[in-house]
Amino acid sequence: MIVAMQDQATEKQIQDVIERMVELGFNVHRTTGTNQTILAGVGKPAHFDVVEFKVLVGVHDAYRISSPYKLAGRSFRPEGTKIKFRNGVVIGDTEVAIMSGPCSVESREQIFESAKQVAASGAKFLRGGAYKPRSSPYSFQGMGVEGLKLMREAADENGLLVVTEVMEIAQIEGMLPYVDLFQLGARNMQNFNLLREIGNTRTPVLMKRGIAATIEEVLLSAEYILAGGNYDVMICERGIRTYETYTRNTMDISAIPVLKKLTHLPIVADPSHGVGIREFVPPMALAAVAAGADALIMEMHPNPDKAMSDGAQSLYPEQLIKLVEQLRKLAPVVGRTVA
Ligand code: PEP
Ligand code: MN
Repeated sequence: MIVAMQDQATEKQIQDVIERMVELGFNVHRTTGTNQTILAGVGKPAHFDVVEFKVLVGVHDAYRISSPYKLAGRSFRPEGTKIKFRNGVVIGDTEVAIMSGPCSVESREQIFESAKQVAASGAKFLRGGAYKPRSSPYSFQGMGVEGLKLMREAADENGLLVVTEVMEIAQIEGMLPYVDLFQLGARNMQNFNLLREIGNTRTPVLMKRGIAATIEEVLLSAEYILAGGNYDVMICERGIRTYETYTRNTMDISAIPVLKKLTHLPIVADPSHGVGIREFVPPMALAAVAAGADALIMEMHPNPDKAMSDGAQSLYPEQLIKLVEQLRKLAPVVGRTVA
């Protein structure tokens, strides 16, 4: 931490700041210039809030130098995290993994048809919500455990892995037999109790960015999961809320390279929720891979016009197939592959 004192700071004020830094466990290095004194705190106290220093009397400003997320930070594993699944699927390596399927599991017929189309595109994961976080309590809430069973069956029949959302702690245990990858939804990114419990499992997690979460908040939420010993975490950019109303959210493509720099965790992009309009999903998917995404999760429905949720942003099956073909051509330009 660096504390810059005000030009007029008294020796007493400087000493009070030094005392507080030492109390917290910092080694303090003092530099006194013609007008200003700078205090550099070296060391890693377990807990401190830089804001506490910003408001001390005589302080001009204080800056944190080390990151507050120790396990999620890139320096913890500079080579990057690779998450291994059955069937030899790895996320975080050269190959960009594709995950696709409907927003919600709606019926046996719908999820089996979806799985067939997803497998035909070359994707490795079948997505679909059995428990749905809907903005309105009157909207379709998902099929629950029945939906999970159908999804597992459809995925197995087509050689796919299952990614599906867990909404609350009480669901975790019952979901374990059906799930290869837990999705932690945008609305739950700061449900810290749920993050902790997911951290106690050893099932990989795709954690979505909250709609108004800063990159630092995203990394701190991931830190909760890692702190429990579950290191198989990926972070998903799924669009944030801005003042723009034309698109459902604003897909923050810039978060992808920034996160790749700050963390060793694989980065996933969700252009479906990112823009919310079907025709803009393919360009955002291509942009996300160009920006360094390790995987894409995209909604596709065999009959999107009749979908029970998120039909407007769900690709038609043939659109998904065409998009994956384009991704295969684009990926080598940035040193990646798409199966
Ligand atoms: C979803 O994937 O269908 C979903 C609800 O995602 P998010 O949490 O990003 O809104
Ligand atoms: Mn959805």
